[in-house]
Amino acid sequence: MIKMSDSLSMQGYLIRGLPVIKEGDDIASLVQSLFELQDGDVLCIASTIVAKSEGRFRNLEDYAPSPRATEIASTLAKDPRFVQAVLDESMDVLLDRPFLLVVTRFGHIGVNAGIDQSNVGHDRILLLPKDPSASATALRDRLGKDCAVIITDTCGRPFRCGVTGVAIGWAGLAALKDWRGKRDMHGKVLEITLEAIVDEIAAAANLLMGEAGDGTPAVVFRGLKYPRAGGSIFMPKDKDVIRPRLKS
Ligand code: GDP
Ligand code: MN
Ligand code: MN
Repeated sequence: MIKMSDSLSMQGYLIRGLPVIKEGDDIASLVQSLFELQDGDVLCIASTIVAKSEGRFRNLEDYAPSPRATEIASTLAKDPRFVQAVLDESMDVLLDRPFLLVVTRFGHIGVNAGIDQSNVGHDRILLLPKDPSASATALRDRLGKDCAVIITDTCGRPFRCGVTGVAIGWAGLAALKDWRGKRDMHGKVLEITLEAIVDEIAAAANLLMGEAGDGTPAVVFRGLKYPRAGGSIFMPKDKDVIRPRLKS
């Protein structure tokens, strides 16, 4: 339990006992069979199991690499079929070296389009869910309680080493908490602060989930006050906004 003040506290629960998820598994019922959710809870689910339940497994043999994929793959010393899978999931390539940084079709910016090769099984890859916020909404609608849902993924951060949990989809809460118009300690009005609360919550959840074989892809936070709706953590689909310095 994290005590935030005398009157406000937040509890985090790691849900243990979920099976290895297969295509078609109902994550909402599996979670509810292991944990009693309450109104106001925030349920965080690793994108890996959402993708598994949605059958987002692929075999590398399914991909015929284009000349572009082959060229990028040779620079990065990667399997060209893997690079083709990344390109297929992307609406834009921001960097093709020293790693492949793309904008996914649903607006998330990440290395290799978030395609996983760990916790998946041999010779297979796992794409991210096609539309993680839609997955979050569908999951939330099946909970029978008024909970928020965040789909998390582990990602690198720009200009920093190491990975952290981020939100790639959400439902039932605002992605951004708007501090604009509030006053600082000296009475100065805040003009630009939008706090990416879904990423902050996702990072805390990821900390509890672990990255390897723990088998704990679900976390619940209780006692968190969160705004309900509004905004996105993804950049507008305008290349000038996403990469202003890369313009020719
Ligand atoms: P990602 O961050 O969404 O890419 O997911 P990770 O591969 O880092 O896994 C996060 C957590 O979920 C770790 O504790 C994994 O062991 C666990 N995990 C991954 N797949 C499964 C699964 O099918 N079933 C269960 N029970 N846990 C899983
Ligand atoms: Mn992942
Ligand atoms: Mn992870």
